[in-house]
Amino acid sequence: MQNQWQDDEAKRCSNDLEQRVYTSRLLGRDPALVLHGGGNTSVKTRERDFFGHEHAVLRIKGSGWDLDTIDARGFAPVRMDVLLQLAQLDHLTDADMADQMRRGLLDSAAPAPSVEAILHALIPFKFVDHTHADAFISLCNTPSGEQRVREVYSDDVIVVPYVMPGFSLARLCSREVVPHIGPHTQGLALMHHGLFTWGGTARESYERHIALVSRAEEYLKRCGAWHIRWQAPVQPHGPLRIARAQLRADISRAAGSAMIMQSHDDERCLAYTQRADIGVISQRGPATPDHVIRTKRVPLIGRDVAAYAEAYRAYFVRNAAQHPDGKRLVMLDPAPRVVLDPELGVCVAGRTVKDARITLDIADHTLDIIQRAMQLECWQALPERDIFDVEYWDLEQAKLKRQAKPGEFTGEVALVTGAASGIGKACVESLQARGAAVIALDLNPAIESLFSAPEVLGIACDVSDETALERALEAGVKAYGGLDMLVLNAGIFPASKRIESLGSAEWDKVMRINLDANLALMRLSHPLLKLAPKGGRVIIIGSKNVPAPGPGAAAYSASKAALTQLARVAALEWGGDGIRVNIVHPNAVFDTGIWSDEILKARAASYGLTVEEYKTNNVLRVPVTSHDVAELVATMCGAPFAKTTGAQVPIDGGNDRVI
Ligand code: ZN
Repeated sequence: MQNQWQDDEAKRCSNDLEQRVYTSRLLGRDPALVLHGGGNTSVKTRERDFFGHEHAVLRIKGSGWDLDTIDARGFAPVRMDVLLQLAQLDHLTDADMADQMRRGLLDSAAPAPSVEAILHALIPFKFVDHTHADAFISLCNTPSGEQRVREVYSDDVIVVPYVMPGFSLARLCSREVVPHIGPHTQGLALMHHGLFTWGGTARESYERHIALVSRAEEYLKRCGAWHIRWQAPVQPHGPLRIARAQLRADISRAAGSAMIMQSHDDERCLAYTQRADIGVISQRGPATPDHVIRTKRVPLIGRDVAAYAEAYRAYFVRNAAQHPDGKRLVMLDPAPRVVLDPELGVCVAGRTVKDARITLDIADHTLDIIQRAMQLECWQALPERDIFDVEYWDLEQAKLKRQAKPGEFTGEVALVTGAASGIGKACVESLQARGAAVIALDLNPAIESLFSAPEVLGIACDVSDETALERALEAGVKAYGGLDMLVLNAGIFPASKRIESLGSAEWDKVMRINLDANLALMRLSHPLLKLAPKGGRVIIIGSKNVPAPGPGAAAYSASKAALTQLARVAALEWGGDGIRVNIVHPNAVFDTGIWSDEILKARAASYGLTVEEYKTNNVLRVPVTSHDVAELVATMCGAPFAKTTGAQVPIDGGNDRVI
């Protein structure tokens, strides 16, 4: 474990809080110490209230902040006297604890203080650091974990048996732990949970933390349990996208909403899922109890989601019966969040791409933690009752509720062709804005870095190459789990040419890209769209030239007319599979790749119009933009068009030849 303290960086911190931010980020930067919202840190300081009265204050990490990105605003200022009085109580409900901590804030706009605030307040040192370090978790989740922890740390730490985090833990520590903290005690080892360290300075607390974790790592190394031994996995054959999409469809059904599913099948992940004992070791429980809200208590082994959901219901009933508030508890959805499959690898499900990534990071660390514990002795997690208590703890579930309101297409996946510019790019943006994850294809390799968000996967792809299309679908389904919406936009518009001089090669090229490529992609997409949790949707970008062709554009008009007819037949054939196929016919959309300012000026001049008149040369006298078309496409994918298929909708400002 690397000590990342840098004197020159630390020198820039001018007060306690800035130092607190600095070393919190050092801890947060290392995923082997904390993952997504895990861990918490604090500093005891003095601050003035509105009336100028000075108070002893605990600045503690606020709920919803991650240590790696936290800044001063993320540390809630709670009055120490309030926290210390709470610690004296015999009983305190979670709701009262949260409420009283909020009332004790010096800043009403501060985030909710961490559930460990009382424990931080009790520790009689200025800086306190807490993580769920991987190496420590491997060490303490073994049958002789406590003995090993004592062997590694001797009297440098106080070993605390597992109790539920929050008030129970604070109360136990107030009575039985804090009185035993001596001048040489450096921290607490919380069994099945994590480490606390403290110090008079941010540096002392941080460096003690790194030192304690390093000692756990060195112990694992000495015992031959650090470097994980695994056998080269059997590589699965052939495409797996249909199997993945089926699994994602089953998970979405059990969850009651469309879910994103990410798959990881590198050698390390496959080797783990192919372990002979995977069905045993993976079913013992999560690395730390707070992971349960992201991963559920256990992963699904294989693909039988219905059996998993059944077992989850039984787990809920069994544990709710023992729970003091059991009658009030409402069961969460029974769908798995982590799936271990020998062919598909480690698959994780989440309502959004961000959620799935968080779960993936946790699952990824968990597989190392478990395997190290197995090499050391044996993986032994907490009993399910303890995990259940944290899973159904209001204060943990509140972390999930703080997330942004879901968009219309949250959990759904779209694929857009010709996505690097014009209408295609605008469609990616409109679908993404409504919460969809988007697979964005374009011939232009710039597509791979055009969108920086994890919700868009840019893939350079020649749509007229069926093998490339298949590869793109494999990659897209691996990244997001399936396909719900297909927007066929890629196309070419060749230079104007009359029929008598239109060569067959040129005709073929237009047909190949504007028509044949779309047939191939539709054919490949059908089994995926059929599995879409909310029904598949296809939108074809047609053209005004279908109902109202123009001279000089025979190949283009014919290709778009044929594509329209293909879509109409698809609407008939695929309706039974719950797939809607609709067509939009844009006209005169000038903010696309093919229209430069010069071309626009020349075309306008050829009609004796100004550029502005030319752009609004329609019944409504309005310009039509790529964004306008994209918004119509997204709307047609959504609820207002839920009962429409085979429709052709113009978006052209009104065209007298079409009307
Ligand atoms: Zn913790």
